Amino acid sequence: MEAPPPPSLSVVVPMFNEETVIPALVARLRPILDGIGMSYEVVAVDDGSRDATARMLVEQRRDWPQLRTIRLRSNSGHQAALTAGLRRAYGDWVVSMDADLQDPPEMITEMVAEARERDLEVVYAVRVDRSADSLFKRVTAGAYYRLMRRVIGTRMPAQAGDFRLLSRAAVEVLRQLPERSPVYRMLVPSLGFASGSVTYTRERRAAGDTKYPVHKMASLAWQSLADFSAAPLRVATWLGSVAFVFCLILIVFGLAAWAAGTVIPGWTSLFLAMLMLAAVQLICLGLLGEYVSRIYAVVQNRPSFHIAYDSAAPDGTPVVPV
Ligand code: UDP
Ligand code: MG
Repeated sequence: MEAPPPPSLSVVVPMFNEETVIPALVARLRPILDGIGMSYEVVAVDDGSRDATARMLVEQRRDWPQLRTIRLRSNSGHQAALTAGLRRAYGDWVVSMDADLQDPPEMITEMVAEARERDLEVVYAVRVDRSADSLFKRVTAGAYYRLMRRVIGTRMPAQAGDFRLLSRAAVEVLRQLPERSPVYRMLVPSLGFASGSVTYTRERRAAGDTKYPVHKMASLAWQSLADFSAAPLRVATWLGSVAFVFCLILIVFGLAAWAAGTVIPGWTSLFLAMLMLAAVQLICLGLLGEYVSRIYAVVQNRPSFHIAYDSAAPDGTPVVPV
C-alpha cells in the first residue's frame, strides 16, 4: 500500500493524564483545523498517562481519522513527549501546543499566515497577558524568562513557551541534533532561524490540574540553565576566590594579633570557617557532578522515551526506530 502524502500541517499535542481535557480540546480544535483550508494531522502524544487518556484518544480517533496517537511507555516528561511528536510529525508546518487549551488553537491560523506572509521558519506565540495563571506561576515564570534571556540573549522571546510553529526545514534541523530531549524554548531561538511572533492572552486550563508540579518546574529550569550555560561552574571559581581573599584577610589579622601578643580565642570562628569551606567545596563538587552526569547521559545515548504504540503504523507499533 502506498503511503499517503504528508499533510500540510501537523499539530503536536503532548498529554499527560488529560482525560478531563480531551473532549473540550477536540470540540474546539477540530472545527478550526477542518476550516483552515490545509490538509492536517493531529499528533497526540500520550506521555505514559495513567488515566483514561489512551482509551479516550483511541475512541476519538474512530471518527476523526486525522487524529494520530502515539503512546510512550512511561511518563517521560513534556519535552521528551514533544521530541517524540516532532520526530513523527510529517507536515510542511508543525505546530506544538498544550492539551489544556491554555494555548488558544485559533492562533494556529494566525501563526501559519504570519509564517507564509513573511517567509519565516519559526513563529512563536508570546503570552502578553497571563492573568489567568496563578500568582505563583506568574512570578516563577517571570524569573525563569528573565534568567534564560540572560543565558541565550535577546534572541529568546520572553514568555514564549512551547506554543510555536516550525517549518519543515526547522523540524529537520531539530531532528538532526544529537540531543536527547532538549528544552525547545531555549534550543529553537539559539539556532538563529528566521522568526517572528504573534501575541495572545493565556487562557485558564480548560479542566483538570497542572501537570507541572514544582519539582518538574525546577527540573526544567535547571535543564534550561545547565544545557545552555556553563555559568554555574564559574560560580565555583568565584566562591573559591572569595573564600581565598577572606582567608588572606584572616591571616593578616592573625599575624597582627600574634605580634601584639594577644591570643585569639577563636575555636568557634575556626570551626565555622572550616564548615563553611567544606560546604562550599561540596556545592562545587555537586555542580561539577551535574555536568559530568549530563556528559554521561549523552555518551550513553539512551533514548529519552520509548514508543509503545503509534496509530500511524499498520499494526500500531513504531514505524521507525527512535
Ligand atoms: N505534559 C506532558 N508530560 C508531563 C507533564 C506535562 O506531556 O510530564 C503536558 C500536559 O499534558 C500539557 C502540557 O504538557 O499538555 C503542559 O502542561 P501543563 O498545562 O500541566 O503545564 P502548565 O500550563 O501548568 O505549566
Ligand atoms: Mg497548562
